[in-house]
Amino acid sequence: MNNQPITYRLDINGSATATYYPTVAKFTNQVLSKAENSLALIARIYRWYLIKFELETPRTVEEYIFDLLNLGVLWRKYGQTALSVRIAPFRFLARIAEWRKFSIIKPVIDVIRGYLMSFFLVHSRKKSNITIPRSLHDIERLVAWLDATGDFREDAFRYIRWIGYWRTKNPDHFRELMYSILSFTDWFEKASLIHLGIFTPHVDSFIAKNKDLYRWREDRFVCMRSRVEYHLNMVGAEIMNRANHQEFVSCARKTILAPGCMRKRSDEECEGKRTPDGIRCSGCESACHINQMRILGLKQNFIVMVLPHSSDLSRWAAKPGDPSSGVVGISCLSLLVQGGWELKRYDVPAQCVLLNQCGCKKHWDEKGFPTEIDLRELKRIMNYTSSEEITPSFRLMETSSQD
Ligand code: SF4
Repeated sequence: MNNQPITYRLDINGSATATYYPTVAKFTNQVLSKAENSLALIARIYRWYLIKFELETPRTVEEYIFDLLNLGVLWRKYGQTALSVRIAPFRFLARIAEWRKFSIIKPVIDVIRGYLMSFFLVHSRKKSNITIPRSLHDIERLVAWLDATGDFREDAFRYIRWIGYWRTKNPDHFRELMYSILSFTDWFEKASLIHLGIFTPHVDSFIAKNKDLYRWREDRFVCMRSRVEYHLNMVGAEIMNRANHQEFVSCARKTILAPGCMRKRSDEECEGKRTPDGIRCSGCESACHINQMRILGLKQNFIVMVLPHSSDLSRWAAKPGDPSSGVVGISCLSLLVQGGWELKRYDVPAQCVLLNQCGCKKHWDEKGFPTEIDLRELKRIMNYTSSEEITPSFRLMETSSQD
């Protein structure tokens, strides 16, 4: 494991359970409390509208507050880029982002996609200078752009419904809403840096050093996330976990979806069984983090599947007659929340556990190294033990010896 984080690290000053998780819980409370005077009212009215017209199973008010904050951050980061794109094969780009999930020629598609995305979706020399959306049409263009990248597809899905709602409002009202959203976003950017910035010390330097390297790559938007996006995803994961927790713990079946980069061995050396659902660990390496979770799952009745990056998550959707099924998604900060929203779209109660830091060879590190999570957080989410019952010195690697 790297001592110096590539971009972020949750256990930078002690275990993540003792430092990161209490901090993000506290800061999320602060965000939601601050939103009471602005975004919460917009979120409540929108929720009421969805219930009245039966447009979706209503999510919690906190999730709609997050939608608004997320929109503000996305607008600030990508709005000008999106408005600068006049002509692009938006639908085609969105489709190839989906095809790659099912295709055996994914590496080829990724190369093509990288070039197409960079050619059509990023005009760095002629950025628009519009800082506040002039009308709903500007948000529609942003959403089309987000969808075309493939990396913000779940955001795009959710904003299509928001756009439908805002079409029922007059333009002045929409502009006032955008002022509230953007002023809250600006507060969030500053406050999150103070409270969560300690966990994201190398994001800016990683971007500065690597922006040319990633210019034509399909993961350029995933890997070039700004610091405020990291902080946003931290808060988003916390809100999602709170919103889904009760439903999740009551599920009869639970599955952990873990990334391949947690394995101790390379993909070629891993002896796990390849199945259509992912890789089932066979326990070939006692120090492997996946194996440690597998052993815990044998005792505590959950299964662990290793998934390739950008897998199709629809296969985890409940089928008629099946027992209720909940999923814990493990991923790095750049990918985690989108996966959680996707599972939610399939009515799967999902929980997220963050990798303590990113380290896979595909996206982040030339050689790659086995990534890990804080197992106490996994146990807390599973509701098997309260956080007080687990000693602060507990470490993931120690689990195998206890087993
Ligand atoms: S212990 Fe399991 S996941 Fe780890 S390398 Fe072996 S088979 Fe693969």
